[in-house]
Amino acid sequence: EAMFSYALSEPDAGSDAAGMKTRAVRDGDFWVLNGVKRWITNAGVSEYYTVMAVTDPDKRSRGISAFVVEKSDEGVSFGAPEKKLGIKGSPTREV
Ligand SMILES: Cc1cc2nc3c(=O)[nH]c(=O)nc-3n(C[C@H](O)[C@H](O)[C@H](O)COP(=O)(O)OP(=O)(O)OC[C@H]3O[C@@H](n4cnc5c(N)ncnc54)[C@H](O)[C@@H]3O)c2cc1C
Repeated sequence: EAMFSYALSEPDAGSDAAGMKTRAVRDGDFWVLNGVKRWITNAGVSEYYTVMAVTDPDKRSRGISAFVVEKSDEGVSFGAPEKKLGIKGSPTREV
């Protein structure tokens, strides 16, 4: 009943997804994520986001983990809708 979006791409990490800068750091029972995801389909509409973040920088591409982030989680915000030439059936925004 609620949609998910997939948040992998970043301003400087498109095809080279392993170059992502978003970090996830454990803080007690929680994980704190910091970073910007760009070109996210249905951002702002989806209730849930599968967010990729670096948890172990030394392991490079093998040190990336997936987190479920909820739209209502503290600190989550969205950019303005991108003005696209096509694919207008869904909004594309930063997260
Ligand atoms: C409408 C839209 C919706 C999107 N939705 C999502 C989404 O929901 N979630 C998400 O995570 N991302 C999303 N994206 C981002 C998309 O996945 C990236 O745009 C894609 O990964 C390419 O990255 P880039 O745009 O940075 O291009 P770049 O990585 O800069 O690539 C530019 C060009 O260079 C080529 N290139 C790159 N590296 C090499 C190489 N090593 N050798 C040869 N050629 C190379 C590429 O093939 C491409 O032609 C969306 C993008 C668009 C346009």
